[in-house]
Formats: sequence, structure tokens, C-alpha cells
Amino acid sequence: MRQVAVLGATGSIGASTLEVIARHPERFRVAALSAHRDCATLVDLCTRFVPDVAVIADASLHDEFAAALRSRGLRTEALAGADALDDIAADTRFDTVVAAIVGAAGLASTLAAARAGKRLLLANKEAVVMSGELLVATAARNGATIIPLDSEHNAIFQCLPRDYAHNPGANGITRLILTASGGPFRGWSREQLRGVTPDQACAHPRWKMGRKISIDSATLMNKGLEVIEAQRLFGVAPEHIDVLVHPQSIVHSLVEYADGSQLAQLGSPDMRTPIANALAWPARIDAGVTRLDLVAAARLDFEAPDLIAFPCLAHAFAALRTGGAAPIMLNAANEVAVAAFLAGRIGFLDIERVISSGLQRSVNAATDTLEAIVAIDYDARRAAECDLQGFSS
Ligand code: NAD
Ligand code: MG
Repeated sequence: MRQVAVLGATGSIGASTLEVIARHPERFRVAALSAHRDCATLVDLCTRFVPDVAVIADASLHDEFAAALRSRGLRTEALAGADALDDIAADTRFDTVVAAIVGAAGLASTLAAARAGKRLLLANKEAVVMSGELLVATAARNGATIIPLDSEHNAIFQCLPRDYAHNPGANGITRLILTASGGPFRGWSREQLRGVTPDQACAHPRWKMGRKISIDSATLMNKGLEVIEAQRLFGVAPEHIDVLVHPQSIVHSLVEYADGSQLAQLGSPDMRTPIANALAWPARIDAGVTRLDLVAAARLDFEAPDLIAFPCLAHAFAALRTGGAAPIMLNAANEVAVAAFLAGRIGFLDIERVISSGLQRSVNAATDTLEAIVAIDYDARRAAECDLQGFSS
């Protein structure tokens, strides 16, 4: 029986993970849960799954949270604060950690799980982008197994040889091809994008996701972060990673081999498939998804991404090639800009301007410890906040 800690349990990935787990009580037990501020939902989840421990990350809510658990007569231990996230990620009672916190807030706990040698089911792509080589090296050194939950990376994971060991050349791998839906504004010009609202940008045609990743999908920064994530997780050179727009979101990504074969993973656009794959790997279990019907789908379309209308993807490739602090700065500027857009402080096209301006700064700092990464992230956020002042409407 796997003892699973779900970090970010109240989010979109958290909810889908708990749905898959609930279908297989003989295989998985929800042993730990976390949420940022949504006390009521976390208490409901504790009532349903009765984990050993639950963390409310906003420490000011500790008393309210603990009292609510007591009033329901639950034996779940109530913890609070960001450090408690690291504690449950590293807790030896739990063998599996689902990293489903959004943004840089999930970095430390993701690294803590890798350090503790866990089976790490990784949705929190910002943590991968920020931590560069550190996460993968920490996992390798401590015997942790990283299994990607992001649908594209999980697709690639499924299409790689079982003995794939960070040595793509030896396996004849020539290219990773990440598919992208193109988001809600596929085919739009920059002029048309100027006035779009957060609600329009969050109305994704294929996937129902949290608001931050929905905006990232609309700007194509999500694909940019995923290109960096793929480079980190699979050790392939940036020039061997391609992006292919595929509006139906049925082909979730492909791996090309030296003999010209391209292996793809297909499925309905439903995160429960990669989640079930990662939870049970190498076994296969029911994910509860609608089976893919290719006759009903009838056609699969592919096109090149439009880097003029969606320059964020090009910025991500540039940051990856620059390396060092650049991906951390890209991510920080993007998080600040997306939050400002969601709050109505800047326009949609300003997101790209904040990122572009952030990447103008060059920082020559080490990126091989959590502390160094956090310091670069902090400075980049402050600089992005300053840049925002110039764009605020
Ligand atoms: P979401 O906004 O729905 O949920 C985020 C979760 O993180 C919530 O449980 C929230 O309480 C928690 N959280 C937020 N800020 C926090 C903080 N400061 N401290 C502690 N916890 C905090 O997001 P989501 O869509 O579920 O995405 C989660 C991650 O998975 C993101 O990195 C996203 O890029 C990635 N991802 C999501 C999808 C998807 O379909 N939703 C697909 C692939 C990858
Ligand atoms: Mg994805």
C-alpha cells in the first residue's frame, strides 16, 4: 500500500489525484494533504480521507484549521506554515509525494521530497524550471524516482525506453516533440490580443486548470516552461526539443528516434490519465477517464507555433540556452506578471513585456543550492514589480 502525500490538494491537479486514488483504496492511502489558504476545503478533504497529517501553508490559519479538525473528531494532525510542507514531503512515513503546488511556492517541498528519496510525482513545473540540474541531481543522489505528471512529460516518459538513463544519445533519441493546444487565442493577432480579459484567457478550450497555468497556456509561456522542464527531466539539448501546435490535445507528445520512428502517447485530454500512470507506474490502473474514440475525433491537426503573436515561447527557449539564472528570472517575472494580469493591474500583452524586461538583466550567480535559487528568485520578483509600475494601467 503506497502512503501518498498530496501537496496542493485543493487545486485542480490535487483534486484529480484524489479522484484517481479514491478509485483504488487497495493500492493507495492518502496519508498527508496540504493547501494554501482554503481551510474549509482542506477540512472536507481531511474528513473524507483521514490523513495522518495535514498542512495549511498560511500559518495565520493554524488555530482555525486545528479547531475545525477537532470539531469533526478527526485524528489528523494539524500543521501550518511553509516549513511544514517540507516536513511532510520528507516524512519517512510516506513513500510517495505528489508535488501539485503552483509556482515557486512548491520549490522547497519538491526538493525536500527528492532529498528524502521519495517517489516524486511532479506537476509543479515551476519548481523544475527554477531548480535546474539541482532537482534531478538531488533525486539521483538520494534514490528518488521522478515521474512527471505534466501530460506532455508523462507522454514522453511513456514513450522512452524503460532503461532510459539520462543518456539519450545511447538510446538513439533524436528529438522530443512537445505538443501544445495553442490555448484559447490560437490564430489571434497581437492586435486582437491587446484587450483580452483574465476570464477570456482562463477559458481554455480543452483543459480545466488553475488560473495561473491557464494564463500561461494563453500566452504559450506554459509551453516555454515545459520546454525547460523537458530539458531538465530528460537531459536532451535545447535544439533537440520542438513544439508542435495540436489543437485537439489528443496526441500528448512524441519521441523521435534515429531510425525515423516517432512514438506518441494518445488519450482524451484528461489529467487523470497521466496521474494514474504516474501513481501506479509501472503497473496500469483504471483512471476513470472517457476512452479515446478516434473515429469520433475524426481528425488530428498540427501546425507550427506562432512566435510573433506569442513571443513568450521564444523567451523561454532563449532563457534555456542562456542557462544559469535566466530560467529562474524568466519564471519569477512570469509569476509576477501573471498575478498582476489576473488582478487587473496590467494588460495581456504586458505580461510578455515584463518577462522580456526581466531577461535583459544579467545575473552571474551560482544556482546549485536552494538558497542561491531563492535569492535570485527574490531579486527577480522585486525587479519585475518595479517594471510593472511602468506598465500599470
Ligand atoms: P491550482 O491553482 O488549481 O492549485 C494550486 C494548489 O497549490 C492549491 O492546492 C493551492 O492551495 C496550493 N498553493 C498555492 N499557493 C501556495 C502557497 N503559496 N503555498 C502552499 N500551497 C500553495 O493549480 P493547478 O492547476 O492544480 O496546478 C498545479 C501545478 O501543476 C502547477 O505548477 C501547474 O503548472 C501544474 N500542472 C497543472 C495542470 C492542470 O491540468 N491543472 C497540468 C499540468 C501541470
Ligand atoms: Mg502540460
